Amino acid sequence: MAILVTGGAGYIGSHTVVELLAHGEQVVVIDNLQKGHAQAVQTPVFYKGDIRDRELLDQVFRENKIEAVVHFAADSLVGESVQEPLKYYDNNVIAAHTLLTKMIEHNVKKIVFSSTAATYGEPEKVPIVETDATNPTSPYGETKLAIEKMLKWCDRAYGLKSIALRYFNVAGAHPDARIGEDHTPESHLIPIILQVALGQREAISVFGEDYPTEDGTCIRDYIHVMDLANAHWLALNRLREKGESGIYNLGNGTGFSVKQVIETARSVTGHPIPAIIAQRRAGDPAVLIASYEKAQAELGWKQRYNSLHEIIETAWNWHKSHPHGYPRD
Ligand code: UDP
Repeated sequence: MAILVTGGAGYIGSHTVVELLAHGEQVVVIDNLQKGHAQAVQTPVFYKGDIRDRELLDQVFRENKIEAVVHFAADSLVGESVQEPLKYYDNNVIAAHTLLTKMIEHNVKKIVFSSTAATYGEPEKVPIVETDATNPTSPYGETKLAIEKMLKWCDRAYGLKSIALRYFNVAGAHPDARIGEDHTPESHLIPIILQVALGQREAISVFGEDYPTEDGTCIRDYIHVMDLANAHWLALNRLREKGESGIYNLGNGTGFSVKQVIETARSVTGHPIPAIIAQRRAGDPAVLIASYEKAQAELGWKQRYNSLHEIIETAWNWHKSHPHGYPRD
C-alpha cells in the first residue's frame, strides 16, 4: 500500500517524502508545480496535476493502492491571503473538499493534514496549547481551520481518521542539502537573511522594533523541516495503530527574536548581514511559541534539531550549494 502526498514537490512536502521513503514507505506524489519544483520530487511515482481535478484523482486512486494521504497542497502566504481571499478558499478549502470527497469514494480513510499556528491568531498566552482559542487573523489561517473542521465532521459521518499538524515556523533543509526551501518571491525570514549572506540582497529589513519583547522584535518558534517531516510519519503510524483523530502543535517550544535569528545567521555564515529597521508587517503577533507536549506524549515525537544554529546551518548548506534554488522547471 502507498501513501499519497499532495504537494510533494513543495518545501515541507518534499522533505516529508524523503522521510517516508527512509522508513520504507511507498510514496505517490501529486503536485501541480505552481509553487513546487519537479526536481524536488523524490519518488518516481509522480502525477503532475491539481487536486481539484476529480478525474485525475480517480486515476491516482485507481492506479495505486493508497492507504493514506498526507495533504500539503495549498497556498500558504498570510499577506497574499488577505489580498486574495477567494484564491485561498479555492486552493485550500475547495481543493481539500474535492480530495476528501474522492478519498471517501475510494474508501481511503486516513489523512495527515498540514495545518498551521495561524489557526490561533493573536495568542492569549504562550506557550500555545492545542485547546487554546482559534481566532485566525487571515484568510490563510481561516481556510486551514475550516479544513480542520471539515475533517472533524468527516470523521463523525464517514469514519475518516485525521491528524492535523499545526506548524510553527519551519526552517532548515535536508542535511545532505539535496532539497531545500525555494520560494519565488521569498518572504520568510531565514532564507531572506541567507540571501543577504550570499550577496543577493543588501540588507535584511527587520519588521518592527517596538514590540513588547526584550529587544523589541517579534519572537517565533523555529522547527527544523526534517523534524516536522518525521512528525508526519509518526502521525501516520498513530492513525494506523490507534485510529484516533487529533490535532497537534509542532514547534521547538523555544522562542527566538528576529534580532537573535540574524545574530545566529551571522555566526553560521561569517557574513556581517546588515540589518535595517523597517515598519511592522500587518498581522504579525509579537510572540508565537508552541507547547509540543501533546505531540511528544502521544506521537512519541522528539526533535533532532533543537538548536537554532544547527537549523540555520542546514539551510545555509542548501542555499550555498543552490544559490538560485532549483534549476528552473
Ligand atoms: N521578518 C522580518 N523581515 C523579513 C521577513 C520576516 O523581520 O524580511 C519577521 C516577521 O515579521 C516575523 C518573523 O520574521 O516576525 C518570521 O517571519 P516569517 O515570514 O519567516 O514567518 P511567519 O512568522 O510569518 O510565519
